[in-house]
Amino acid sequence: MTMANIIIVEDEADIRELLELSLGKAGYAVRACASGEEGIAQARLSLPDLMLLDLMLPGVNGLEVCRQIRAMPGAEFPVIMVTARGSESDIVAGLEMGADDYIVKPFSLPVLLARVKKALSRQGRGIEVPTQGIVIDDRRHEVMLDGEKLELTSSEFSTLKFLASHPGWVYTRSQIVKAVHGENYPVTDRSVDVMILSLRRKLGSKGKSIETVRGVGYRFEE
Ligand code: CA
Repeated sequence: MTMANIIIVEDEADIRELLELSLGKAGYAVRACASGEEGIAQARLSLPDLMLLDLMLPGVNGLEVCRQIRAMPGAEFPVIMVTARGSESDIVAGLEMGADDYIVKPFSLPVLLARVKKALSRQGRGIEVPTQGIVIDDRRHEVMLDGEKLELTSSEFSTLKFLASHPGWVYTRSQIVKAVHGENYPVTDRSVDVMILSLRRKLGSKGKSIETVRGVGYRFEE
């Protein structure tokens, strides 16, 4: 088995060293970068299996790093943003820029390691739908809840399928719209909320599987 390769981009030396040490101990090959420029250069040199990306960086900031990385051919590895508390708008921007997950500082090391492990294990896996009483039949475009067929609109079906295929991942409203309707579909955030509300109602006691992430968007529970 080859070691997963992780790029850390973090300008604060003590955090960078802590991450480098802990991830190294956990068995990953780590490249620690102190700036966005260095992170991009390292990714160009050879694509990692995952990137831990601080958003607040001097020079090229984390959002720009994310944008440039996603523009690289084949760069589909998970990007976990590391952000300061209270920067929900940055989180939203980062997710829309192609980041996959985020961790808020100050973080707990075991939680961070678990998130890294999870993100790496999700890599390359196909669509998985949790079977906790909800069965999504993609071919028939039907959802069964505890054996009963649900009457969902096409948007509700696609949204449920999208969220449930990525349990634990947070999506912004515009990412949901993009996944369901494609690019440049004119829909307000409010109408996404209304649709989710209706979907939750139809899911009954399972409705709480769709969690609201305040200031960011929605996710399907793990
Ligand atoms: Ca920083």
